[in-house]
Amino acid sequence: MRETAITADLLRRLPLPQPAEDGDKDQRGRVLVIGGSLAVPGAALLAATAALRAGAGKLQIATCQSLALHLGLAVPEALVVRLPETEAGEIDPEAAPLLRERIERCDSALIGPGMIDQDVAATLTANILICDPGSAFVLDAGALGRLKDLRGILARHNGQIVITPHAGEMASLIGISKSEVLSSPAEIAGETARLLNCVVALKGARTYIASPEGEQWAYSDGNVGLATSGSGDTLAGIIAGLLARGVAPAQATQWGVYLHGEAGNRLARARGRLGFLARELLAEIPSIMAGFD
Ligand code: AMP
Ligand code: MG
Repeated sequence: MRETAITADLLRRLPLPQPAEDGDKDQRGRVLVIGGSLAVPGAALLAATAALRAGAGKLQIATCQSLALHLGLAVPEALVVRLPETEAGEIDPEAAPLLRERIERCDSALIGPGMIDQDVAATLTANILICDPGSAFVLDAGALGRLKDLRGILARHNGQIVITPHAGEMASLIGISKSEVLSSPAEIAGETARLLNCVVALKGARTYIASPEGEQWAYSDGNVGLATSGSGDTLAGIIAGLLARGVAPAQATQWGVYLHGEAGNRLARARGRLGFLARELLAEIPSIMAGFD
């Protein structure tokens, strides 16, 4: 095995930045979560709350206009940006210029939770990523569809992008079958990280993380109860929250994958192996992080 195992010992050697006791919320970064559709309104809620649970200082959620008020009330900590929406209830790609402006004032942005129309999501993602490099990004779910066509744009972001596909999403991203992805996941994560100049977390029972520089890590200490609706949205939000705090992309991904897995392990012990909810992972995050102080 050439990947380094992600363990608590490894993470102790990669500590998270600690806030000054008199620090304010601006010092722990501003995160923007872009997502949600009428068909999947709650994924952005999970991801956004996860970003705050990972310690980000300020949260904005940008979503379609008919969802905005609902999300704002469900996540009262968030500033909500109302975006134009398509007839089918997705964020309209014409929102991209407005989002690019916002991203310039944020430390990290997550694109994708709850975005289900691949064409609409791909157009929106491409038109957001033509922003000036500087912010860190997490791309998940709907935002992953057409990334292979965006290599030139991704290359400009200096390795500041994290992508979090499961095996099925990785298969469509690089145009091979899911069984091919599953037969050599470490190699595929590594090649994709180099090809797209991104940090890749190829998720599954064993999650493979690869950096564009060729480093590789793996985490397999979670449990099968984590394979549940909304689980990946919480992971993406945790990583976006850590990026907003100024953690480097590969380190934020290692920490995010560990915190998510360990949250699942705590719930499995407390409630049972199956049937805990993605939203219940969120409240576990702070005390797991605090265990490293
Ligand atoms: P998603 O499919 O996007 O909701 O993401 C599912 C999350 O659950 C990822 O973080 C996976 O790594 C994790 N996961 C899926 N299946 C398992 C499993 N059998 N054991 C541990 N973690 C899993
Ligand atoms: Mg997912």
